[in-house]
Amino acid sequence: MLADTVSAKQAAYLVLNAGSSSLKFSAFRQNAQGNDLETLLSGQISGIGSEARFEAKSADRRPLGAHTWDTKDSDNRDILLQYVLDWLGTTLGDYDIVAVGHRVVHGGMNLGQPMQVTPNLLDELDSLVPLAPLHQPHNVAPIRILAKNFPDLKQVACFDTAFHSTQPAMARHFGLPQALTDEGVCSYGFHGLSYEYVTSHLRETRPDLAQGHVVICHLGNGSSLCAVKAGQSMDTSMGFSVLNGVPMGTRSGSIDPGVLFYLMREKNMGLEALEDLLYRQSGLLGISGISNDMKVLQESSEPAAQKAVDLFCFRVAKEVAAMAASMGGLDALVFTAGIGENSPEIRAAVVQQLAWLGVKVDAAANTKKAYDISAPDAKVPVFIVPTNEEKMIAKHTIRVLGHTLGQA
Ligand code: ADP
Repeated sequence: MLADTVSAKQAAYLVLNAGSSSLKFSAFRQNAQGNDLETLLSGQISGIGSEARFEAKSADRRPLGAHTWDTKDSDNRDILLQYVLDWLGTTLGDYDIVAVGHRVVHGGMNLGQPMQVTPNLLDELDSLVPLAPLHQPHNVAPIRILAKNFPDLKQVACFDTAFHSTQPAMARHFGLPQALTDEGVCSYGFHGLSYEYVTSHLRETRPDLAQGHVVICHLGNGSSLCAVKAGQSMDTSMGFSVLNGVPMGTRSGSIDPGVLFYLMREKNMGLEALEDLLYRQSGLLGISGISNDMKVLQESSEPAAQKAVDLFCFRVAKEVAAMAASMGGLDALVFTAGIGENSPEIRAAVVQQLAWLGVKVDAAANTKKAYDISAPDAKVPVFIVPTNEEKMIAKHTIRVLGHTLGQA
């Protein structure tokens, strides 16, 4: 199934997105016209480390397979990855997987473009673990396993930080001593593959606006915003880590760093307790005490759930204005990711707070989840663009390897 010899089968590209407790996968092939990619199937193993569960679906969302593991095998990433590969081998009988593209959270200061995986690149990715200790090792693990088991397989690493490499120093530097900035303590930004996809979509559909000042709100379990000017990232709300910016499902978003000293001094909290608090117990979950899931909170009648939703909208609107100020204008506002794409109420609340900027949505278009949801008299148009980071990774994989869609 993984192609290492010349074969008459059709080519497919596999995309892997490996996180701390999940392994998401998608397979793509070229479309009938040979000018774009289309999804063959996608799926994930969730519950890695506890009770691993596999499920997959076709491009039209039909269930294709399911499997569970006992606790003993649930944290064995070799076994879990091999299961996915074997399953793909059986399910994609007419296809050869000619290359694998990976989502990698951190490319540091030097990796501003997707790169083909080599032993040297793997070492460099390992050296970046201190910058993203909770994510990077999980992203790199399947790359190493595949490199060991299939030495001829072509692999490409695509970095969430790369899209932000165009940001000016002003947007990246903290108010810290220069020596710390020089050793890499600065803002990198994340969700870059999503911003890149949305930007390319806008370039195709509204090239006039794509040349201007666009704020993209990626609102999902993890949320961030990006200021994109003429297609290039100028600033973003996430920074050195994925904690910064707006409150998220379980992450705090920006807080005064003085809070950390207070917690250390007065509550004897150490590194692990603080990490747990800020990454896993805060955000929507912490504020509401009910759930990290926006949909659950919106359906709840509890005042604490409403408070979490309101605070989220308030902070998103505030960041939109900050992003606009960073790049000196606002010509379009775009919502994407789970909350951004699916919640008309959140979009309406954010836009309402930005009315003074001339941002306004049409209520019916917003509810219908149209592409252009602007009110006719809006000075700044508003769009919904469903993100597709996996497709972006597949496209990068093809380009980096020098393949063309005609060959795929
Ligand atoms: P991830 O960052 O894990 O990729 P997603 O982009 O899938 O996350 O976003 C997940 C979030 O989207 C959850 O908070 C979920 O409740 C929210 N969401 C999905 N559908 C809706 C909906 N119809 N209304 C409100 N929130 C929704």
